Amino acid sequence: MSEKISVNSAWQTALTQLDNVSMTMMLSEDVHQLLRNFERILTVSIPVRMDNGSLRVFNGFRVQHNSARGPYKGGVRYHPDLTLDDLKALAMEMTWKCSLVGVPFGGAKGGIICNPKVLSKGELERLTRRFTYAIMPIIGIEKDILAPDVNTNEQIMAWMMDTYSMNNGYCTPGIVTGKPVNIGGSLGRTDATGLGITFSIASAIKSKKINFKGLKVAIQGYGNVGSTVGKLLSEMGSKIVAVSSSKGGVFNPKGLNHIALMKHYKEHGSFDNFPRAESITNEALLELPCDVLVPAAMGNQITKENADKIKAKMVVEGANGPTTLEADHILNERKIPVVPDILANAGGVIVSYFEWVQDVQCYFWCEHEVNAKLKNLLDRSYEEVFRLSQERKVNLRTAAMILAVKKVADAISVRGLYP
Ligand code: GLU
Repeated sequence: MSEKISVNSAWQTALTQLDNVSMTMMLSEDVHQLLRNFERILTVSIPVRMDNGSLRVFNGFRVQHNSARGPYKGGVRYHPDLTLDDLKALAMEMTWKCSLVGVPFGGAKGGIICNPKVLSKGELERLTRRFTYAIMPIIGIEKDILAPDVNTNEQIMAWMMDTYSMNNGYCTPGIVTGKPVNIGGSLGRTDATGLGITFSIASAIKSKKINFKGLKVAIQGYGNVGSTVGKLLSEMGSKIVAVSSSKGGVFNPKGLNHIALMKHYKEHGSFDNFPRAESITNEALLELPCDVLVPAAMGNQITKENADKIKAKMVVEGANGPTTLEADHILNERKIPVVPDILANAGGVIVSYFEWVQDVQCYFWCEHEVNAKLKNLLDRSYEEVFRLSQERKVNLRTAAMILAVKKVADAISVRGLYP
C-alpha cells in the first residue's frame, strides 16, 4: 500500500491516517467526509480570580468528534502548549479507540491552555469549576462524559463532578470518570492505562515468543501511566533499563529499581543524581538498545529525525500520538512493530466505561472483576488486530484503524442522515 506522507502535526497525522485507511477500505466518500469533520467544537473563555487579586482569562475547549456509536467520551488536558488542532487529533483518536475496543462511546477531548504547575490549589479549583460550568450545555451522562488526561487527576475530576452536580440540582457521578472511589470512581481506574499497556506488551511479546523475564524495557515518561507499567513489569522479572520525566531521565543496562526510582522522584522532583545510573535526555532514551520502548509522555516524540536510530525491537505506544506519520513509515520499513496507541493505551477508557456503567447502575464491582473484564476486552481486541494485520499484510496500526473506522462507518450508515 502506498501511503501519503504529510507534515508533522498531530492533526495532519490524524487526518492523513484517516485518509489512508479510508482509501484502503474503499470507504464511501460520504462517510469519509463526515469522519474528517467534527460534530461540535466549543471554545470558552474562563475568567479566574487569581490569589493575588488579579483577574486572568484562560482559554478552554471541548471538541466532540463523532457520536454515531454512543455518547462522546474523552479526557480533559491542562497544558501551556495546548492547541485546538491537538485536541481535534485527540478527539478523533478517542472515536477510534472506543470503537476498536468495543466501548459504546464516541470521541471527544477537552482542555485548557494553562500551566497547572504554577497555579495554586485554589486557582486550579476555580479554573476547573468555571471551565466545567462553561461547557455544561454540551456535556451530560448520556451526552459527553469527561475524564483525566495530561496534568489532570482524581481531584480535578471530583471538582468537575461537584460543579456539574451542584448546577444540575442532584448528585451526578456519571458525568466524569477517573474520580475518587468514595464518590463513585471505579476500583482499578488509576492503574487501568498502565495495566492495559502491560497486557498489550504481553500479547506483543507472546506473538514473538519472548517472555517477561529479563525483558529490557525503556519507558519515556514515568508518571501515572509509565510508572504503573514499570511497577508491573518489574514484578514479572523484566528489567526497566531507562525511565524519564519531563526534566530528563536515567539509564542502567542492568536495570533500575522501581521502588527506589519512585522514592527518589518523590524526594527530589526529578531523576537527577539517581544512584548507579547514567543521566540521559528524553531524546536519548528513545534511541537506547532495549526490547520494548514505551513512549508514555507527550505526542510527536518519535519523528523522522530519530526513527532511524531506534534500537528497540518493538514500540508500544503508551502516550497518545507519540509517533509521527513519517516515523511510522520508517519503523514500518525497518520492520519494528508498533502497537498503536488506540490499542495499547485503551485500558484507561475501557475502565472509564466500566466506571460509568457502575455509576449508572449504582452497583460497584470488586477490583478483580474490573481487571478481569479489562484483560478480556484488551486481549480480544489485540487478537482481532493481530489477525487482520496478518490477513491483510498491513501493520498493526493500519489493522486497528480499519477495524475501528469500519464500526463507526457502519453505525453512521445504519443510522442514516438526519433529517
Ligand atoms: N485520557 C485518556 C485517553 O486518552 C482516558 C479517556 C477516558 O477515560 O475517557 O484515553
